[in-house]
Amino acid sequence: MTELLVIGGVRTAAADGKTAPVIEPATAVPMIDVAEAGPEDARRAVDVAARAFEEGAWRRMSARERGRILSAASLLIRDRREGLAVLEARNGGKPISSARAEIDIVANVFEYWGGAATKIFGETIPIQPSGIDLTLREPVGVCVLITPWNFPAVIASWKMAPALACGNTAIVKPASQTPLTALAVADILTEAGLPEGTLSVLPGPGSTTAAALIADRRVSKIGFTGSTSVGTQVMQTAATNITRVSLELGGKSPNVVFADADLDVCIPKSVWSVFDNAGQDCCARSRMLVQRPVYEEFVERLGEATSAIKVGQPLEEDTEMGPLISAAQRLTSQGYVEIGLAEGARHVIGGEVPDDPGFFMRPAVLADVDNAWRVAQEEIFGPVACVISFETEEEAIRLANDSPYGLSGSIWTRDLGRAIRVAKGIRTGNLSVNSSSSVHTEAPFGGYKQSGMGREMGMHAVGLYTEVKNIYLSDEV
Ligand code: NAD
Repeated sequence: MTELLVIGGVRTAAADGKTAPVIEPATAVPMIDVAEAGPEDARRAVDVAARAFEEGAWRRMSARERGRILSAASLLIRDRREGLAVLEARNGGKPISSARAEIDIVANVFEYWGGAATKIFGETIPIQPSGIDLTLREPVGVCVLITPWNFPAVIASWKMAPALACGNTAIVKPASQTPLTALAVADILTEAGLPEGTLSVLPGPGSTTAAALIADRRVSKIGFTGSTSVGTQVMQTAATNITRVSLELGGKSPNVVFADADLDVCIPKSVWSVFDNAGQDCCARSRMLVQRPVYEEFVERLGEATSAIKVGQPLEEDTEMGPLISAAQRLTSQGYVEIGLAEGARHVIGGEVPDDPGFFMRPAVLADVDNAWRVAQEEIFGPVACVISFETEEEAIRLANDSPYGLSGSIWTRDLGRAIRVAKGIRTGNLSVNSSSSVHTEAPFGGYKQSGMGREMGMHAVGLYTEVKNIYLSDEV
């Protein structure tokens, strides 16, 4: 069986008939073949999206009707939650409990943008006593939305739903490792009433398929989530045609634990803030900065909690951590354990590879890490936590900011004044106090520094998917 591409809502084989197997990380065996889009399919998809935008079936539809279609899609996603969750768990190697929660997020995102479609509007500006100055929020045009493999359906929804709510046509380029749920959500949108031509999903290699899409002059906007290195290339290509671009990139987020923190709450949450999704999370709090008086206790309890994590098959209900996405990702993660130990870290626990064909690895904790070391500066994107000590509030802020990244982070303290000072001092796009949560459907999300530019989520995303037109109306006639 082969999963076909979606071009303008219609299932289609690749122009050259090419397919590629999708590997199931828990077994290392192909799960299904997927049509592989090439440059010719990229051109076809842009043709369809540009024509659909020009003809305007979607952008000229009333905002209320557009919203109804997105809301209908949300209801269909809720109805099909279990099937989608199983697909995501198998394809991404996630525990089924996490996959269900992610499909719920996807439904929430479409529900949010179903309601938001009628709340995208401009402003009136008092420029002079006569006439009226006003702004319109107009769709940008054809949007290319490029997504990574770690949260395939969730990240596709963060881009698809606002792009569509704003009246654009869109082409999603999912990661080749995990294209299945984006294809399924596209079918659901078609079923919900999305007009033909409005949405395409093109699985294929980034270096050819995505590169062909973003080089096309008819593309008006690129929404990219992925690594900082590929984000750099995307931004360079975008510069050629002055294509609008937003980037959600890598991270190396701090988890700052002060001595007055409630460790009974902090430790269980800190474990998941770094090992959720097998550490393959852009917001992973992989730098645990811990104040000296509680440092040894924290290391010991973090090690105990890490050793209790149930690593297992994604579809087993009690599994807490599945395999990594690929053999390569596991090799990189193991390599960083080695690098950390060679740099002088203390091995607390983990890093072993079980005797299993899947890409499993036990989560690892390294202590006594220096923030200047590679293991603390580079994004690992695997289950490796580094624990670093600090003495003072100023030092905690300095260490938290001593990173090329600035995506996320947590602060653990019972001192409200300190929480406010440290939250203002840390330069990241998202922070939580006494919590490990990073992302909320209704609130902005994005990075400082090399973690990206632009804010997805909440009504901030309207800025990514609309142009602002200013109109002055004279009353002098
Ligand atoms: P990646 O950069 O390798 O790939 C991301 C996407 O870009 C894929 O669809 C890929 O096919 C495509 N791509 C590859 N080469 C390309 C090119 N030359 N031109 C255009 N597109 C190309 O990232 P990944 O390994 O899939 O995902 C992991 C990375 O994503 C990590 O760095 C992680 O931090 C980051 N990430 C960031 C966020 C965020 O919101 N900030 C969320 C999730 C993941």
